[in-house]
Amino acid sequence: MSELTSSSSPSTPKLVTTASELRAAVRAARAAGCAIGLVPTMGALHEGHLSLVQASRSECGFTVATIFVNPTQFAPHEDFDKYPRTLDADLESLASCHADLVFAPRREDMYPAGCSTLVQPPQVAQRWEGECRPGHFQGVATVVLKLFNLAQADVAFFGHKDYQQAAVIRRMVQDLNVPTEIRVCPTVREPDGLAMSSRNRYLSAGERQQAVALSRALRLAEQMAAGGERHAAKLVEAIDRVLAEAQIRRIDYVAVVDPDTLEPVPELTRPVVVLIAARVGGTRLIDNWRIDGPLA
Ligand code: AMP
Repeated sequence: MSELTSSSSPSTPKLVTTASELRAAVRAARAAGCAIGLVPTMGALHEGHLSLVQASRSECGFTVATIFVNPTQFAPHEDFDKYPRTLDADLESLASCHADLVFAPRREDMYPAGCSTLVQPPQVAQRWEGECRPGHFQGVATVVLKLFNLAQADVAFFGHKDYQQAAVIRRMVQDLNVPTEIRVCPTVREPDGLAMSSRNRYLSAGERQQAVALSRALRLAEQMAAGGERHAAKLVEAIDRVLAEAQIRRIDYVAVVDPDTLEPVPELTRPVVVLIAARVGGTRLIDNWRIDGPLA
């Protein structure tokens, strides 16, 4: 894999593609006394991903970013084939934020012929994304557990943006006694509020304008809660109205849920998370907002 191993600039992170190269690099870092931080991604990196690398660097002496568009988390009709793949730009971004190592395995190395073990995801995977994307969290849990085992990470960093995913991984780690600590980092947003996402690049200029309605609707929900509204249904109604005004009509779900179980919460008497999934043009977007209170 030497043609893939970057050595052009001193700050360019080393790129490895095989498990043995990853293990050797991690072993050396650990021998040098470093804690290992892991940032799993599917590439097409943006500031949200880079914030996870920065969080890892602030806590761990050695940061591994992984880039792998994981086929097992995409349904056959989803965007696996057209998912953006921008390795060169990603390496530059990772150099700029000083990741130590990039692991970008090939599909056949992650899932060699005959590989058939899958992780049954926890209960918290059932609703929302689990209903809209059957099999998605099984693929996510499987690849994340494989990455944890490959990198032997002490700490792994995920984004609040994919709230249910982080909840699934937290629970999986607890249920399966995985010795990796999970950190969930804040969602990084564009100046107008749109949550950064690799899929935002699918949006046309008009759709980009529409898409900001998701975060606008979430902010409105937060303002309503701050103003004393305690009925979750009222928040959902208001969000639906904002989305409809933006001509966003294909809404998968808008829900006010318990932050841990992700079960719907009818009254805001304790912290909740508001979840949205909707299609803007052909692009499926998700966003969420935690409302902490005071909610007495
Ligand atoms: P992905 O490449 O979409 O699989 O995302 C990789 C990691 O980056 C996941 O933990 C995501 O939750 C996280 N992430 C994606 N978008 C953002 C964002 N806007 N802010 C913070 N983290 C993010």
